[in-house]
Amino acid sequence: MTVMGRAVETAEFIAEGGIHATLDAAKRSSAARVREVLAKAREMKGLSLEEMAVLMAIDTPELEQELYKTGKWIKDEIYGDRLVLFAPLYVSNYCGNECVYCAFRARNKEIRRAALTQEQIAREVKILVEQGHKRVLLVAGESYPTVGEHRGLDYILKAVETIYATRSGKGEVRRVNVNLAPLTVADFKRLKAANIGTYQIFQETYHRETYARMHLGGLKRNYDFRTTACDRAMEAGIDDVGIGVLLGLCDWRFDLLAMMQHIRHLEERFGVGPHTVSVPRLEPATGSPLASHPPAQVSDHDFWKIVAMIRLAVPYTGIIMSTRENAEVRRKTFAMGVSQISAGSRTNPGGYAAELSGEEDGQFQLGDHRGLDEVVRDCAELGYIPSFCTACYRLGRTGRDFMDLAKPGLIKDHCGPNALASFYEYLLDYASPETKAAGRKLIAGKLAAMEPKIRERSETMLQMLDDQKRDVFV
Ligand code: SAM
Ligand code: SF4
Repeated sequence: MTVMGRAVETAEFIAEGGIHATLDAAKRSSAARVREVLAKAREMKGLSLEEMAVLMAIDTPELEQELYKTGKWIKDEIYGDRLVLFAPLYVSNYCGNECVYCAFRARNKEIRRAALTQEQIAREVKILVEQGHKRVLLVAGESYPTVGEHRGLDYILKAVETIYATRSGKGEVRRVNVNLAPLTVADFKRLKAANIGTYQIFQETYHRETYARMHLGGLKRNYDFRTTACDRAMEAGIDDVGIGVLLGLCDWRFDLLAMMQHIRHLEERFGVGPHTVSVPRLEPATGSPLASHPPAQVSDHDFWKIVAMIRLAVPYTGIIMSTRENAEVRRKTFAMGVSQISAGSRTNPGGYAAELSGEEDGQFQLGDHRGLDEVVRDCAELGYIPSFCTACYRLGRTGRDFMDLAKPGLIKDHCGPNALASFYEYLLDYASPETKAAGRKLIAGKLAAMEPKIRERSETMLQMLDDQKRDVFV
């Protein structure tokens, strides 16, 4: 990856004044202007901040529907009807920070604390693998290396190693992404050497003053160190970074435009932007009352608009939705442009084995409690292909290479057959009889709709799986 310019230590690329001016100027945008922007979005070259602000001014149900339709159209053009599935794996809820919205904050006495041993991590992984998961997102509080045994980066690196080394039956985790506090370049290099997939970090809010009010203690108080984390990760050679704002802390319009400034900065400096954008919405958290009363509540309609706008603004970037949202909201949001979802999640360490702590000790309250099998069946019945594919990362198609591949046509050649094959592997090894039936029906329909060359490639891959081969991809 080419790195342009000097190292960045302050978030100088976030220009608050410019954001307010852009929002003000677009406030009274006409319906004609909105439609112009929607038409431009269909060229799939992204949108400027000013164009995003025009869409934020949408205030009629008709235009809102047109925005959703455009999001869906772009998602279908680029990604097709795949939904990539993953599970979070919380290894520790010890944390030295005081984020007022999070159950893991240091001074919260209402949750039980746990940091999993490597054996306990392996046990959690086995449970996830036996459910059929292939992608895991490792999550932890920010703990200090000097305190306790299960703390610091060494502990996290060991955990990544344990996850990759754990097998059960025919399966294993094939990609470990991480959501961790920011590191130095030297530590990011160690994280890269551990073979992680995406490094994910949410800014929570880009609004400095709000950020200061939400983060009352610990290393996370340093706004600049957090905002420049992706710069350091990419300098260290981590190609795939994931970003997001915690919706509900600050006006979402401001945060979305600031996030666009962050994205454009990364694109300018590294030739490629973030691999994924997540859309976490604030959920109630034990012992952290602010989470139940979001200072800047985001309604379901605003949530859908946000997802669709991100799809229009950065068409080739993955959008991740977690089980913070309930099943109904999730179903609707699939159509707005989401490309990755978590399923069957627990947010307390040891939550899958249910032996160390209970759901009340989790980071926040879940909106979707369904198991993986049920979510997979639901997606299939809605016409989406649940994908467990990890091919790109394992073939080195990351960063810019991935974005080059993510051009219409190319993505269909590779990702379509890979998604079907990984889904079929899931059906053969893990699915309930009802899900198998729904899945086989879906696959038959998708094969019938494929171009002959791609259908042939897909059928060959499915046959290999029938012949007991596993982990088949192109
Ligand atoms: N501790 C690290 C950090 O804060 O960057 C990494 C893991 S933290 C457990 C992952 C994310 O959970 C945070 O970045 C935040 O956006 C989100 N989160 C915290 N409290 C939440 C809540 N009450 N509802 C929804 N998401 C929350
Ligand atoms: Fe700790 Fe992260 Fe929760 Fe903040 S959001 S209290 S840093 S786990």
